[in-house]
Amino acid sequence: REEQMQRSEKLRVIGELASGMAHEIRNPLTTVKGFLQLSKASGYNIENWYALIMDEINRMSDLTGEFLQFSKPHRTNFRTDSLNDCVLKVIALIESEAISSGHEIQFHESTDDVLMLMDQDKMIQLLLNMMKNACEAMESNGSIHMKLSRDQKNATLIIADNGPGIPSDQLDKIFHPFFTTKETGTGLGLSICYKIVQDHQGTLEVESELGIGTRFILTFPVVVPMHVEINNAAVS
Ligand code: ADP
Ligand code: MG
Repeated sequence: REEQMQRSEKLRVIGELASGMAHEIRNPLTTVKGFLQLSKASGYNIENWYALIMDEINRMSDLTGEFLQFSKPHRTNFRTDSLNDCVLKVIALIESEAISSGHEIQFHESTDDVLMLMDQDKMIQLLLNMMKNACEAMESNGSIHMKLSRDQKNATLIIADNGPGIPSDQLDKIFHPFFTTKETGTGLGLSICYKIVQDHQGTLEVESELGIGTRFILTFPVVVPMHVEINNAAVS
């Protein structure tokens, strides 16, 4: 029974994604087709529309590229890795872009390394998506604060920005595929983030206040150090 429910739920989600994708691709396709027909009918030089056509094609390319993240075979590449290292790698990747927009990035690391089971490529993709969103949301001279801590069971990573915030009626929509408020957004970033968090048995929450900023709170189970495991075993 439950398996059947899960299967039909999966099919429903796949159906929604597929129709959303078809819809998103059809619009730029229609535009490109229109330009081509117009140029043929009017004898207009296609070069006049070159930039517009290129924009639409790039958009379709972004969409299909990001969409593949959903359907990629679930190749699990999990190993014990440091979340601290992962955050530092992502900061290195985005720093020059952030600095050129006048943003500052701060990272409050936990004192000892937070070890967890992760697919590092996916974890980097997740953090990069979130930090890109933060950079895009803030006008120049914003700041991104990240804080990593842990307790016996979980790691908590907070990614906070002082951007414009998210209106409360949009808060439950931002994780939906294709929801975007950006002119050239795909709306796929956060839904991919959500999936990556789920694949890591984690949780992802958002808090936001208009004019103050937005914070994403991620938690992941940590790899418990051996001596603690032994203590627990002794107790139970
Ligand atoms: P995209 O970035 O392509 O728009 P996402 O799924 O990454 O798609 O984000 C969806 C929407 O969530 C964004 O368009 C934006 O409205 C909102 N959002 C995400 N992160 C932030 C943030 N840090 N501050 C304000 N709004 C955000
Ligand atoms: Mg995004």
